[in-house]
Amino acid sequence: MHTLCTGRRYVHVIACRSELCAYCGGCVSLCPSGALELGETRLVIDEERCNDCNLCIPACSVGALVAEQDEPAVGHVRRQYDLVVVGAGPAGSTAAWFAAEQGLDVLLLEKRQEIGSPVRCAEGINREMLLRFLKPEEPWICAEINRSQIVNAETGEAQSFAGDEVGYVLERRIFDRTLAERAASAGAQVMVKSTVDGLLKENGAVRGVRAAHADTEFEIYAPIVVGADGVESRVGQWSGLRCTLPQADCLVCAQFLLVGIDVDPTCCYYYLGQELAPGGYAWVFPKGEGKANVGLGVQADFAEAPALEYLNRFIAQHRFLEQGSPVTLITGNVPVGVARGDIVGDGVMLVGDAARQADPLTGGGIANAMIAGRLAAEVAAKAAAAGDVSRACLAQYQAGWAEERGRKMARNYRLKNRFSPAQRTSRSFLRAFALATPGK
Ligand code: FAD
Repeated sequence: MHTLCTGRRYVHVIACRSELCAYCGGCVSLCPSGALELGETRLVIDEERCNDCNLCIPACSVGALVAEQDEPAVGHVRRQYDLVVVGAGPAGSTAAWFAAEQGLDVLLLEKRQEIGSPVRCAEGINREMLLRFLKPEEPWICAEINRSQIVNAETGEAQSFAGDEVGYVLERRIFDRTLAERAASAGAQVMVKSTVDGLLKENGAVRGVRAAHADTEFEIYAPIVVGADGVESRVGQWSGLRCTLPQADCLVCAQFLLVGIDVDPTCCYYYLGQELAPGGYAWVFPKGEGKANVGLGVQADFAEAPALEYLNRFIAQHRFLEQGSPVTLITGNVPVGVARGDIVGDGVMLVGDAARQADPLTGGGIANAMIAGRLAAEVAAKAAAAGDVSRACLAQYQAGWAEERGRKMARNYRLKNRFSPAQRTSRSFLRAFALATPGK
């Protein structure tokens, strides 16, 4: 089954189930547009000519002809929604969840076949931030954190910051899926293995997406598209928003899940040092039962070797880590800047890593992604009710973000740029860093 999109009008093209077709040609005689032709061995359908009149369907004696309504192209996907969300990470699933709760008809598209996997995260989250959305549940909480330790890797000096249950280390594989389930339970339609590969536009305004599910391509019309497609965001680029990441705003990361290590299961460790991780830091986030996410990020413009090489060196220098076995290796980049231009356009909003909303000092982005997702959903609902999806109207989301998190992000970005890698073990930087860690 094929679909064609011509501006806002969607045409459903007739399809022939060749296993049923008896090649009688009965349908051809009724076709007013000349779209059907009896070929030598099969019925040939000219999709360009088919005008969706459906006159041929009752003329088929064996029920071989079907229209899209009888047999949807991809699962039960429809052609039109109020909102299409691209990407089912924390930003996208939260946007879909809250938009569906506000009564919008939402489609959430995720390119991976399993939401939340592979994980690209150390999985630390601040307690208060998490509680804004969900009560912690055992399946996706690995460790409760009540202390963090910031280590000056050059001197070995460590500073501890304690507090009651300052945060958690999540099992994001399950956490991300839980968020998507919330979206689905609220009424959003979720589709995995569905890659968005372009936008539909009308007079420059975004009006939907082009996507592929398995080997089937389809087009979906929606007055608002939310780009929650992560650090690699294409939605931003396709929309003409300025989102190419400068090297200086890119934290290049590698991480092992180490098993069999002796680590305090209630403490997150951060190691800073110019040699260790220029422009970044190394972390040890416990996951309980002798396991921990042990990773490291380096700022791309300062890196003299791949992040993995720095990480292997870090592990080799710490006996308690060297004893562990790496059971997974993950790599990924975090945007550690602020958006360099608008994060909204006509009919489009960017959220989460796509909008460069991770913390510039720590790279923590889960909670910010969820906050942005909810803000975008609220603005989408208002815009839909007002029938105004222009950039000017959607700018309420950008303003809401600036009000809620913008000042803190801008301050942390200034701090990141003010301190050179050599200065990042100074007392004042370590203090600022401690205030920005997920436990604070
Ligand atoms: P993502 O989680 O990246 O989700 C984007 C989704 O969009 C993905 O599922 C992707 O498959 C999908 N997608 C992309 N393109 C398409 C497309 N064309 N069509 C359909 N789907 C698409 N943050 C913290 O808060 N705490 C941490 O401890 C932490 N540690 C980190 C460690 C590492 C090594 C890295 C790389 C990041 C870390 N982060 C951490 C950052 C955090 O992971 C991100 O900020 C967060 O995941 C952003 O959420 P998101 O929904 O914006 O994007």
